[in-house]
Amino acid sequence: MPIQPTFARRLEPIMMELVEQYGTPFHIYDLAGIVATHRSMVQAFGDWPFRQYFAVKALPNPAVLRALVQAGSGLDCSSPVELQLAQASGAVGDAIVFTSNNTTLEEYEQALGAGALITFDDERYLRRAEPLPPVIAFRVAPNGGAARSTLMGVAGESKFGVPRPVLADAYMEAHRRGAERFGIHGMSCANELDVSNAVRAAEELVETAVQIERAVGIQFEYINFGGGSGIPYRLEDQPFDFRAYASAIRAALAKAFPGRRPRVLMECGRFVSGPHGILVARVINRVKKERAVVGLDASMSALMRPGFYRTAYHHVSLPFAGPRPEVSVDVVGSLCENIDRFAVDRRLPDPAEGDIVYIHDTGAHGHAMGFTYNGRLRPAELLLTEAGDVLEIRRAETFEDYVTTVRWEPIPLRVGMSEETESA
Ligand SMILES: *Cc1c(COP(=O)(O)O)cnc(C)c1O
Repeated sequence: MPIQPTFARRLEPIMMELVEQYGTPFHIYDLAGIVATHRSMVQAFGDWPFRQYFAVKALPNPAVLRALVQAGSGLDCSSPVELQLAQASGAVGDAIVFTSNNTTLEEYEQALGAGALITFDDERYLRRAEPLPPVIAFRVAPNGGAARSTLMGVAGESKFGVPRPVLADAYMEAHRRGAERFGIHGMSCANELDVSNAVRAAEELVETAVQIERAVGIQFEYINFGGGSGIPYRLEDQPFDFRAYASAIRAALAKAFPGRRPRVLMECGRFVSGPHGILVARVINRVKKERAVVGLDASMSALMRPGFYRTAYHHVSLPFAGPRPEVSVDVVGSLCENIDRFAVDRRLPDPAEGDIVYIHDTGAHGHAMGFTYNGRLRPAELLLTEAGDVLEIRRAETFEDYVTTVRWEPIPLRVGMSEETESA
């Protein structure tokens, strides 16, 4: 989508100076936009007990996480390292949700030690957990309804969650072992823009919760609807109507649980930060091949989505191009991989070497998915403050970073050694 007007207003006056002084490429995020989006989600739920837990994996930078925590957001983690980052960013206790899959008991124990709310992805670890977490919650496997989202894959083949037929047994066993507090988690959407699809998925989860309560004789304290609210990457996309989504969830809960208000949890990442970031790069190359190819000084190591998901789309603009004839181009990076393209057959104002290019909507699952294949290292992350100041919140990687884990002097491991060698 185009840059939000409030972001553009603070960005435009400084961009030329920034790219000249600091150089390209870099991601830059609008902190005010991120926090405002978080607040609008809270507002949408009104007086219904609600907490949004920002999915750390979307934008794992402490400067952003800290600001969100200060604004009342929780953090959603799915690995011990994310857990450490969440704690280092000021989240404590039940301000952390640990929703992970293919997870060892040790990892769950770390999350428990942090006081996090835990979502068990399967029933196996619950059996082995000793003592039980204070609140028991399972993730329900996507069950088809709204699980058409291409990023989620086919529901029946999902690797996530406890299959519906054994869900009641899992809660039953926890109940038998003395658990008294319960939650439930379900996430059937990914980058969903259609509110009616999202609502259908949410209603299915509410229905499941009601059935489990009846079958097991328990009450859920909270229902976690996960993340997956979408953002309009394409110009023709309509924004996701979060207010309508929240109202529909409230209505479904009021109907399903008369006289009670189970807490609503969400784990949105993309919806909160996605639109509030751009990747700024410079055209370093312009050649005529099958189509015109426009090469940037950034590669998919800085933004993996367009290459990784065939359907992923990022809007591209040339903020300083002025009026020029439009041409069809491929916008590419330097990786020795043919999928390293930010845009394919895209109409743009005829790009020239030296032009500044914005790749839009990189505020979630952008830098975070970056990698260092081919020695094309990850760029810097900058933050635009409310006052219009620019902060460096992560520098660009260097050769030293690239080799920081290398043992230049290989370290022999004590395996397969004869006894003499070992005692020597
Ligand atoms: C990735 C993920 C999220 C966040 O997804 P978004 O599309 O960024 O909202 C939330 N919860 C879980 C369990 C996830 O895996």
